Amino acid sequence: MTAQQKLYEGKAKILYTTDDPDILLTYFKDDATAFNAQKRGSIQGKGAVNCAISSHLFRQLEAKGISTHFIDQASANEMRVRMVKILPLEVVVRNIAAGSLCKQTGLALGTPISPPLVEFYYKNDDLGDPLLTRDRLLLMGLATAEQVEQLQSMALRINEILIDFFQHCGITLVDFKLEFGLDAEQKILLADEISPDTCRLWDQGEADVARRVMDKDRFRQDLGEVESAYQRVMQRVLANPVSL
Ligand code: 5GP
Repeated sequence: MTAQQKLYEGKAKILYTTDDPDILLTYFKDDATAFNAQKRGSIQGKGAVNCAISSHLFRQLEAKGISTHFIDQASANEMRVRMVKILPLEVVVRNIAAGSLCKQTGLALGTPISPPLVEFYYKNDDLGDPLLTRDRLLLMGLATAEQVEQLQSMALRINEILIDFFQHCGITLVDFKLEFGLDAEQKILLADEISPDTCRLWDQGEADVARRVMDKDRFRQDLGEVESAYQRVMQRVLANPVSL
């Protein structure tokens, strides 16, 4: 199966059609952006690293009963995925306070969050991906009440599975962003990617607040050694087999 037409190009990935209308090819790019694309750059080898990490994590989630768009990894930078209609929502799960939560609430970086927080953001670059309330989300018709319930419970279950997986890698899962889509039968599937671009990951072997960062915050905050941090995440993730 080969890529045919470019369907969509995002900041980090390109989606291609294939000869099967139900299957798309996702190409992971080395391009990196932050702060709603105000900061732009490239992280060498990022595409292949994120493709490998995402593929492995999707396999792990599927093994634990989560329905995802993942079919298989087609090449170093390519993943075959089921065609879905993406919901214009970013679902963020937080286990430890960081990033925009600290900025908007004054909570100190590193404050444990229990039970985990599930937040919905409107995926809209022109509006700067604003935080939504449940009522605003329903008002805007971005999802139904039933879908919101399902997204919330899927996000929490995904969080449990990923916390456990990353624990085996010596990595703390601080927070992460998910995207979901609807298939032809209106079934909700986890979509997009799960990688150091979309998660905050702290190395459990490092106490220093800068050195422990293994994710895109290294790029956002100019902490340096971005490529090697992503590589270390990949090595640890791939060293832990998918378990049932
Ligand atoms: P925050 O709201 O603190 O900026 O982000 C929370 C988590 O979601 C972080 O792990 C961050 O990487 C991820 N996240 C939130 N919005 C986006 C986005 O637009 N793109 C990407 N790649 N990750 C995001």
